[in-house]
Amino acid sequence: MKAFNLVTCNNCSWVHMSVSDGYVKAWIKEWKGHIKTRDEDWLENFGLNKKSKPTEMAKEEYLHCFNCRGSYKDFRDAKEGDVGEGHTIQSILDRKYELDEKKTRQEKINMLKSKNEVQSKKKKK
Ligand SMILES: [Zn+2]
Repeated sequence: MKAFNLVTCNNCSWVHMSVSDGYVKAWIKEWKGHIKTRDEDWLENFGLNKKSKPTEMAKEEYLHCFNCRGSYKDFRDAKEGDVGEGHTIQSILDRKYELDEKKTRQEKINMLKSKNEVQSKKKKK
């Protein structure tokens, strides 16, 4: 078994490294610890403060394509040649996992709503 898989965004072809829900949950736990124990200056280096929520940070980081902000569900396995020269590989939650099913559904609904708003705004022009 490979330690990780490379996956490609169906929308923009950006290659990411897929990680498990356990990986993301461990990441959240680690950052909860950091936020509690580090001082404001340390946190500021990461664009954070004492009120930052690691769960929200993880969702921002792991549920969206780094390049086009598309959903982590809209990925396929990477093929040879997908990774371009000088391409930085970000990690993203594997599409078979759900971090928080309820919220992801709500996020999807919100996404559809904002998409519709964008489309209706375009139509008005
Ligand atoms: Zn993308």
